[in-house]
Amino acid sequence: MIESKLVDYLSDLVAINSVNPNLSSQGQGEQEIAEYIYSHFQRLGFNTNLFEVAKNRCNTTSFLPGDNLTKVLLMNGHIDTVGTEGMDSPFVLRKDGDRLYGRGAYDMLAGCAIQMCLADFFAENQTPISLAFTFVCDEEDKSMGMEHLVDHFLPTLPAKPLLGIFMEPTEDQIGICHKGYDWYQLKISGVAAHGSRPEEGVNAIFPLQFALAKLDEINNRLSREEPHPLLGNATLHPGIINGGSGYSVIAADAVLTWERRTLPNEDPKKIKEEVNQVIAAVSDAPGNHKVSVTQLFNRPPNQTKENEHIKRLSNIINEKPYEGMSYWADSALAAKADIPSILFGPSGHGAHAIDEWVSKSSMMYCYKSLKDLILSYLD
Ligand SMILES: [Zn+2]
Repeated sequence: MIESKLVDYLSDLVAINSVNPNLSSQGQGEQEIAEYIYSHFQRLGFNTNLFEVAKNRCNTTSFLPGDNLTKVLLMNGHIDTVGTEGMDSPFVLRKDGDRLYGRGAYDMLAGCAIQMCLADFFAENQTPISLAFTFVCDEEDKSMGMEHLVDHFLPTLPAKPLLGIFMEPTEDQIGICHKGYDWYQLKISGVAAHGSRPEEGVNAIFPLQFALAKLDEINNRLSREEPHPLLGNATLHPGIINGGSGYSVIAADAVLTWERRTLPNEDPKKIKEEVNQVIAAVSDAPGNHKVSVTQLFNRPPNQTKENEHIKRLSNIINEKPYEGMSYWADSALAAKADIPSILFGPSGHGAHAIDEWVSKSSMMYCYKSLKDLILSYLD
């Protein structure tokens, strides 16, 4: 019974703490879960590898050569989850009708269980194309797993994959694009002084209001631009504010970070110009403070063009409309490595929330659709 296998694998995966240690002190890393998956593929006799990307942070990969060695389908899941604060028993899969509750069930251990079941099937059946099963750490933070995979595993394949399928939860639809993001940090420097003698200091907090006002203005402007047909508008928001050292001290420094969610085809010059506008707004504010902005991190958006392989999957799922995903995903890094990449996974609810669940019937549907996609290359 495929369905009970899917549930069993998911139950095993959820039972292993794979909380990303960069996001929560509960995290133990992805070594244990990567080893569990490794032994599954080992048992099937596939060529399987475990990579230690960093201490206790691991990827698992497995390759099954098909009748056509150089037609490779890349499948991918991230094995880390976010923290479990506020959840009663996050590592026990709880069944309630069609809903399977547990941390990571939806985002995205269900996709990993689907890969394991596909491996079971193709271990015993003719495989027209080659299958690369991949499981990576750290997607929820800096994607060091996917970066490692791009550098160390993808070059070992007999050919560049014709398609990458990232099994993030997409409600049974093909996610053909998603947004990217940039993180910026603005620092204002002033001079500390006694609260009773502000004229002896330079206040670093007052000028923050000009940064906030400018960010608000830019965000409003973005909301009035022509929306992307699947992703809507670009946005930005302030994420963290810090500053000052005491109630009675003129603040010597203030720091503001903001996040800009980017759309495919947005001109980087335009985003640079926005940053310059924020700097100018703070520089022009009253006072002798200094201001600087650095980009802390960024990830590109992704927009994949429909091709014959995507069309095949689309036909199998009755041409449900393509979707744009609001969140960022590792697929952007595969796309950057020139592999057309899409998202496709089950339906459910509560990614990163305390009531996370995945639909069992939807997992079955995704499993069957992907199996049919692979078998479609027989003719
Ligand atoms: Zn995810």
